[in-house]
Amino acid sequence: TPTILWLRRDLRLSDHPALTAAVERGGPVIPVFIRDKLVDDLGAAPKWRLGLSLADLDKRLRDKGSRIVFRSGKPADILLDLARKTGAGAVYWSRAYDPDAIERDKAVKASLKDADIEAESHTGHLLFEPWTVETKAGGFYKVYTPMWRAVRDREVDAPLSAPSKVPPPESWPDSDALEDWKLGAAMDRGAEVCLPHQRVGEEAAHGRLGWFTGHAIGEYKNTRDFPAEDGTSGLSENLTYGEISPAQCWHAGRRALHDGGGKSAETWLQELVWREFAYHLIYHTPRIKDGNWREEWDAFPWNEDERRAEVKAWKQGRTGEPFVDAAMREMYVTGKMHNRARMIVASYLTKHLMTHWKVGQAWFDDCLTDWDVASNAMGWQWAAGSGPDATPYFRVFNPETQLDKFDPDGAYRRRWIAEAQSRPTKTALSYFEAIPRSWTMQPDDEYPERVIGLSEGRQRALDAYEARPF
Ligand code: FAD
Repeated sequence: TPTILWLRRDLRLSDHPALTAAVERGGPVIPVFIRDKLVDDLGAAPKWRLGLSLADLDKRLRDKGSRIVFRSGKPADILLDLARKTGAGAVYWSRAYDPDAIERDKAVKASLKDADIEAESHTGHLLFEPWTVETKAGGFYKVYTPMWRAVRDREVDAPLSAPSKVPPPESWPDSDALEDWKLGAAMDRGAEVCLPHQRVGEEAAHGRLGWFTGHAIGEYKNTRDFPAEDGTSGLSENLTYGEISPAQCWHAGRRALHDGGGKSAETWLQELVWREFAYHLIYHTPRIKDGNWREEWDAFPWNEDERRAEVKAWKQGRTGEPFVDAAMREMYVTGKMHNRARMIVASYLTKHLMTHWKVGQAWFDDCLTDWDVASNAMGWQWAAGSGPDATPYFRVFNPETQLDKFDPDGAYRRRWIAEAQSRPTKTALSYFEAIPRSWTMQPDDEYPERVIGLSEGRQRALDAYEARPF
């Protein structure tokens, strides 16, 4: 009987255990993608980027005589309906670890089993399943470094190659047209400005991984903190949609480590484990996504009012703080932001502007094409001080000295801020093509005044911290 391959965040052909198992089961394979509530709830940029990824995989499957069946609605209903119509005896998928996906997948599994259809989830999104990494006392890791020590020398299965054939069914079930979903509809920032900054699909991801591990990984440790440098892998957008697997990255990194990449390659492997850490945390403590991981922080006087002028200025990259503004503009145009910059803008919002991290998280949810439910939640709570293994609240990044240190020649600033430049760069100008007219910003405006003095904002945050009720 046919096997339905339910695609989600595993939009690749190689190192895809669920796909390989479906092919090995024998019989036709019917790849399906369902536009469910989780897809509808995505922010503008990640939803648009998902559409690009789906189109790419559909094309790659067509090259193999297969395709994706696109359907909208409740996964359990759709999969049952498809199984009935195609005579499929099994549904396979790659496991997810965040609370909403787990709830959905449990319901799907139960209804397939009730209908006597085999339902099987597979690995592929993580290096280490969350229930396989435990502290000596038997719990999950709440601190990163011991987790790294526990997993650094573990065997990770060698990546699977792509199946040479994905056998099609005799006839294809009905499918929506992907274009009709208009996944880019909310992308009002001029998708054509953002498009050149995306590296879409499996082939492109592997090209980049090859370049990175061949040429850049040896310098990663030195360059990765400088936002103007092309010093990091840039693979987050591919990892989040599953266009490349973490095991493929891990093995390439390990090879580089043994081929002379040394400490620097190890530092990169550690970053891959930060991604694991985020997933293990969201699996074991789902509340990390929506509320303070350290619950005592519920009593902190966070300001949640998004309508404040300074929050608007933060989103629009006009706080008057060049590092913050450059970073927020980078994200708006490219869908990504350098990690150092993410730390700075998150610290600035939650400390200098005393704003609840959830406000920042929501804006990132909407703007990031590498948006990842686990890393974004962990990143925000790390910056705000409310998360596990977080930076303490009283450690307030100074965006000015950070800029001096990590952008010493001003390249990042010039790349993204047009105001007050006699000859603004193309990238800085592209921001003005992307933003809505209602923001009323022009490249020849004066550069904005600071919305808050750095020492004033810092002191206000520290005073609130001193006075906290916990
Ligand atoms: P590299 O430096 O090349 O690292 C390789 C991979 O390791 C990355 O692609 C990523 O998958 C993983 N990784 C690296 N750093 C981290 C980290 N700190 N936490 C978790 N995984 C990491 N990352 C996302 O993928 N999606 C998000 O939505 C996201 N939101 C964030 C929000 C905040 C406030 C902060 C501080 C960080 C966030 N990060 C997020 C983590 C990090 O900034 C990005 O993963 C990184 O900038 C991606 O660039 P890269 O692919 O070149 O990474």
